[in-house]
Amino acid sequence: MLDNTTLLVALGVSTICLLLTLLGMWLTRRTDRFMLTWVYGLVCIAIGTFSYSYYSLYPEPILGSIWCFFILSGFSIIYAAAHQFRTGRSPLGRSLKLSVLTVNMTTPAMLFGYDGLAFIILNLVVMILLFASAWEYWLARAEAPGPLVGIVTLYSLAAISFFLCALVLVIDGKLVLGHAPDNWAEVLNIAVSIAGMTAVGALSLMLQQARIAAEHRLEALTDALTAIPNRRALFERHGQQVFDASMALIVFDIDRFKSINDVHGHAVGDKVIRAFARELHRTTGPVTVARLGGEEFAAVLVGIVPGYAEWVAERIRRGFGQMQIDNDRDEVIAATTSAGVAYGSAQGATLHDLLQLADGALYQAKRRGRNRVELAVHEEPDLKSGATLVLG
Ligand code: GH3
Ligand code: MG
Ligand code: MG
Repeated sequence: MLDNTTLLVALGVSTICLLLTLLGMWLTRRTDRFMLTWVYGLVCIAIGTFSYSYYSLYPEPILGSIWCFFILSGFSIIYAAAHQFRTGRSPLGRSLKLSVLTVNMTTPAMLFGYDGLAFIILNLVVMILLFASAWEYWLARAEAPGPLVGIVTLYSLAAISFFLCALVLVIDGKLVLGHAPDNWAEVLNIAVSIAGMTAVGALSLMLQQARIAAEHRLEALTDALTAIPNRRALFERHGQQVFDASMALIVFDIDRFKSINDVHGHAVGDKVIRAFARELHRTTGPVTVARLGGEEFAAVLVGIVPGYAEWVAERIRRGFGQMQIDNDRDEVIAATTSAGVAYGSAQGATLHDLLQLADGALYQAKRRGRNRVELAVHEEPDLKSGATLVLG
């Protein structure tokens, strides 16, 4: 059977391995700042573990206070890293406050020789910090359910093992021990911690991969110039949808955009495109808007009453027409847009159908002088195709 000191050294080594893994991950993706915070926490825990193994041979109160300081600061920082992962907030304040609070709860007992009491408090405090960290990852689990639920499980198991250490000491009832506790709960705690460090390393790698994949996916669905969804995103969200009469699609195309590019330059043309995207986003609110390509945009409206889509298109047309967009020479550019509106039908239409219909209506708007909104009418047996209602 391995003795506690050997197990503690093994735990210290696995802590260093985990912190090196996390450090490597942070170096490849420095935007994941919580990884660095995690590393700081693990550095403290590694120092605390090695000094605890030394304390188990020479149980001096001063040495006890030192390892308590590092262990408690380490777990406080680990909790701050979990909070930082979920909220993106700076971990500094939380780490400092929690470290000061938790160290103050244990150190006096250790220094005054009540090491048994200090061990009980320490185990309970670490348990709370681990459960609190698990809770933070649980709240954030939607981001990458597999690795995050795994991390929650490991943190919770470790928390339970710290609770068992406290429970055994409470049952024992000794406030003064004079040595490091040596019982089945301590051995279980170290074993769980060693296994946990290894598994957390693997899970954090999975977590980073999941984050990178999610980022790439978002990039693939976002238009780089305007930061609104692109055509692919529109088809991904609505490509399989059946559009009934309470849904509509509006397509917009900026009028005589080629001449804006020619007269003011491509960069100013880009500025106009961005201005239109802002107006579209501002007016439509939380509906799907997309840049279809070039200076063409779309908006999908759901759960609407007849007439609403034309009203929205009209508001955007007017709003854009009134926008003050200046070129590089501080001159205001006058830009307008045309729009085509198509509603779904009682029989059900696809996104593809609606795009064709709305494009037809847009073409009519261009033909009829631009800067206007036209409504497409579904082909019915008793209706001629291409009939449109002029709104502008
Ligand atoms: P119409 O009123 O009939 O729509 O006339 P138009 O000049 O706007 O014609 P069209 O819609 O065909 O013009 C699209 C132009 O948009 C052609 C292309 O050079 C320009 N364009 C496409 N993508 C971009 C872009 O990302 N930035 C800029 N500045 N121009 C673009
Ligand atoms: Mg165009
Ligand atoms: Mg155009």
